[in-house]
Amino acid sequence: MTRLADRRAVPHLRPVFLAGVRLDAVEDARPADLLRPLLTAESCQHVITANADYLRLAAADPALREVVNSAAMVVPDGMPLVWAAKLSGARVSGRVTGHDLTRALAELSANEGASIFLLGAATSVAQAAAEALKRGYPGARIAGVYSPPDCPYPFPKDEDRRMLEAVNGSGADALLVALGCPKQDLWLGSHRGDLQASIAIGVGGVFDVLAGNLSRAPRWAQATGLEWLYRMAQEPRRLSGRYLLDALFLVRLFAQTGLERLAGRRRGSRP
Ligand code: UDP
Repeated sequence: MTRLADRRAVPHLRPVFLAGVRLDAVEDARPADLLRPLLTAESCQHVITANADYLRLAAADPALREVVNSAAMVVPDGMPLVWAAKLSGARVSGRVTGHDLTRALAELSANEGASIFLLGAATSVAQAAAEALKRGYPGARIAGVYSPPDCPYPFPKDEDRRMLEAVNGSGADALLVALGCPKQDLWLGSHRGDLQASIAIGVGGVFDVLAGNLSRAPRWAQATGLEWLYRMAQEPRRLSGRYLLDALFLVRLFAQTGLERLAGRRRGSRP
């Protein structure tokens, strides 16, 4: 399990609990400031990029919730989580996405030498993502790439071994994992103790965007919480059911968080 004491090395983070799931409210921090202290950790620091879908799954699944609540850092990847954290009274300056963390890591790699391993997605996608990082951040060090075969979680034991050998054998300082949610973080949660990299980040569809297979929403959609609409337009069959469940979950979450805040204020104002 990740040592939570290591989190003290990262300033600007305050944990809040939404539907029983931890989220780190990030205030005035550049993504590189969040990652740099973790890169010198002695044990693998698991960083989770959480969105509404993620929170819904973790709220309903004790195993995933335990992984999230014991990770080194859980950043709000989506605007709805920023709004919910604010509604709970936390000071949050904005979202921190898997794309932000990946870019920051590539910059740290180019400037300070940390090497990066890319685990997950289709082989051609992971390779193209690695090339895109090398092109975009001259000097960035890619330690290796490995794409496990498509199979349900948990992976067969020999595949688990192959994945660990690929990552540890590469000597990577940092690991980016694109196996979708919640698979990537369940896998990281059960292998934090086996991984020799200092930091491991679940990044979902980031490799697909780096490889040019998917494009990101325009900035205005990212800033206003409408990125999901853009993603749904790209993959409507896969994502519409999921987003409907997420929307229902968020309505309940906002109502519950707002009521808890009100109740807290009333208690605080009683003589
Ligand atoms: N992925 C994978 N193995 C899996 C599931 C997903 O390699 O078993 C890859 C998928 O190819 C994609 C990335 O993980 O490159 C993100 O997947 P998805 O979009 O399903 O994740 P989400 O963003 O929906 O959590």
